[in-house]
Amino acid sequence: MTSPDFYAVEELLEPEEIAVRDRVRAFGEREVVPIANEYWERAEFPAQLVPKLAELGVAGGTIEGYGCPGMSAVSAGLVAAELARADGSIGTFNGVHSFLAMQSIAMLGSEEQRQRWLPQMARMETIGAFGLTEPRHGSDAVGLETSARRDGDAFELDGQKKWIGNGSIADLVLIWARDEDGDVGGYVVEKGTPGFEATVMTGKTALRAVWQAEITLSGVRVPAGNKLAGCRSFKDVSTVLDRTRYTVAWRALGLATASYELALAHAQQREQFGQPIAGYQLVQDKLARMLAEITSMQLMCWRLSKLADADRMTPAMASLAKMNHAAKARAIVADARDILGGDGILLDHHVARHHADMEAVFTFEGTDSVQALIVGREITGLSAISGRRNDRR
Ligand SMILES: Cc1cc2nc3c(=O)[nH]c(=O)nc-3n(C[C@H](O)[C@H](O)[C@H](O)COP(=O)(O)OP(=O)(O)OC[C@H]3O[C@@H](n4cnc5c(N)ncnc54)[C@H](O)[C@@H]3O)c2cc1C
Repeated sequence: MTSPDFYAVEELLEPEEIAVRDRVRAFGEREVVPIANEYWERAEFPAQLVPKLAELGVAGGTIEGYGCPGMSAVSAGLVAAELARADGSIGTFNGVHSFLAMQSIAMLGSEEQRQRWLPQMARMETIGAFGLTEPRHGSDAVGLETSARRDGDAFELDGQKKWIGNGSIADLVLIWARDEDGDVGGYVVEKGTPGFEATVMTGKTALRAVWQAEITLSGVRVPAGNKLAGCRSFKDVSTVLDRTRYTVAWRALGLATASYELALAHAQQREQFGQPIAGYQLVQDKLARMLAEITSMQLMCWRLSKLADADRMTPAMASLAKMNHAAKARAIVADARDILGGDGILLDHHVARHHADMEAVFTFEGTDSVQALIVGREITGLSAISGRRNDRR
């Protein structure tokens, strides 16, 4: 498992799951952690890490074939957790490319489209982005307004997107747009297509080392063959989000784990009133509660991934974990920040970065409240998301 492993959860893992976890953890410790703070402070994306990340052979996660690793959902979760544990920004970069963009193509693309794009994405020679959110539509992305108009053997896209991770650097940006019949489809916009403009968003207080873009699409012509063949409506977009959301729960676990370990180490060496602060009851109470939450998060993540592997993970199951883990991790990083005292707001000690980054994880890929509403809909049979019964998001 991710360490700390108080309940020996590692014994539940397969040898290949432990191997990929260790590989990614070593990469994180060696390549990411030493540079994470300076890139975060400068709000720069450490692009030099991409080829090294590619060498790990983890892009594409559970996707089978097309040069992808075809790993178990537990392995994919461990990868997500270990990357986030090193740095939330690099974890988010991979989350967008490897899970959102690649899974969209794997789940909704035709065989020809999968063959065309996935192998080069698995090698990370081609980077992907997932363009769903718009300035006027975040939680209610179902109301997206970007339009796709058929024009001969192409589609013409017009509209605006916001918060699109990798949007300014990606070679392929998946744009979700509404056609003339009102149906939502996925259109792959290739780098350099005229009319596509991506501006890096500035002034962020979280995940500063990964870039999100505001995108303007003005008459962007996309060949008809770049429309994902299997996407017929917004429900299909939801299936991708439902399938990948469990990895966000693992990422929250990664951030919580890193913060707990930093807080424990700090408490053991920081002396106040003549002894290590770890010797004080109130500090131990915090550490014990953090560990209890991390242990329950590990077990939930493992079980959820097993259900995903068995094709038994429902959207609400994934939402429950995202809701629970983001909220619990948010509390853990806040306690860790407190245990570090003033050092908790200095980047040098890493916890400040995790504390800030956790805020974005709490919000993206469905906010805390929206996840609760998805769970609420399943357990009550009544949708409170938009007031409309039987809506599907
Ligand atoms: C760092 C970052 C990276 C992102 N990356 C991507 C990306 O790669 N691609 C992409 O498409 N999008 C991305 N997003 C967008 C993200 O998914 C949205 O921010 C998120 O869905 C919330 O939308 P919003 O920000 O518009 O907030 P809003 O939807 O405006 O929500 C504001 C508040 O209202 C609450 N709320 C909304 N509806 C309801 C309701 N029915 N009932 C109760 N409360 C409600 C929310 O819970 C929240 O508290 C990213 C966002 C961030 C911050």
